[in-house]
Amino acid sequence: MTRKVALVTGGSRGIGAAVARRLAGDGFDVALTYRSAGDRAAAIVKEVEAAGGRALGLRVEAADAGALVAAVERTVRELGRLDVVVGNAGIAPYGALEEVTLEEVDRLLAVHPRASFVLAQAAARHMRDGGRIVLIGSSLAERVPYPGWTAYAMSKSALTGLVKGLARDLGPRGITANVVHPGSTDTEMNPADGPDADEERRHTALGRYCSPDDIAATVAHLAGDGGRAITGAAISVDAGVTA
Ligand code: NAP
Repeated sequence: MTRKVALVTGGSRGIGAAVARRLAGDGFDVALTYRSAGDRAAAIVKEVEAAGGRALGLRVEAADAGALVAAVERTVRELGRLDVVVGNAGIAPYGALEEVTLEEVDRLLAVHPRASFVLAQAAARHMRDGGRIVLIGSSLAERVPYPGWTAYAMSKSALTGLVKGLARDLGPRGITANVVHPGSTDTEMNPADGPDADEERRHTALGRYCSPDDIAATVAHLAGDGGRAITGAAISVDAGVTA
């Protein structure tokens, strides 16, 4: 049987690396992008290959639309097809509202909704019927329990509208588009032993952080057979922080 192909942005570490590993375990060949951590991306590429898949590591700045489009084209050229894209690359600057600069706002909008739009549009040009688009948002798109996250929350909530539009545009081809909203997840971006971690845990229903594998499991569900009737949805995987 021909293997399916997934492209995961920000796959060098954290949630993206967990998604790449999980999809490889589910039988996908995987292209993954990174911004600067080439050595770490190469290590994930090796893990995917060890799981029996083909893999590709691509250096891509998410704010660079041309580079994103080129990554989609290279994936199709080198791995032969495209079935799933996961838009995960992200940043999490925060701070007092009065001090947020417009440059920071522009950067957040470029790396989150603009890059997600570019990725989805480029993928739709190459994706087979029945393909899957999964974006990684944030629980802060749905509920903001602490100050300092206004611009980040704005940049992530745009993904909810984006997947609804994509669902309607691509539904006739059987292509689904969904956003997964993680809550506090134990990565370098937000370590479970970091200075704010206890406060973050207190706001959840389950009293705990998510693991990157928790997020990857839902992405894998959306990418697999069980996801074929889910589209235009925003799915919380957040230990109940938005409950
Ligand atoms: P992470 O550990 O900091 O990893 C970020 C990944 O994105 C890395 O692969 C990084 O590449 C890549 N990246 C960052 N900025 C980039 C850019 N400008 N262009 C291209 N690639 C870029 O973060 P994470 O916690 O796994 O977060 C993944 C996604 O989940 C993000 O969208 C984040 O907003 C979202 N999220 C995280 C949490 C959480 O608590 N961790 C909660 C909600 C949502 P390099 O390794 O090369 O730097």
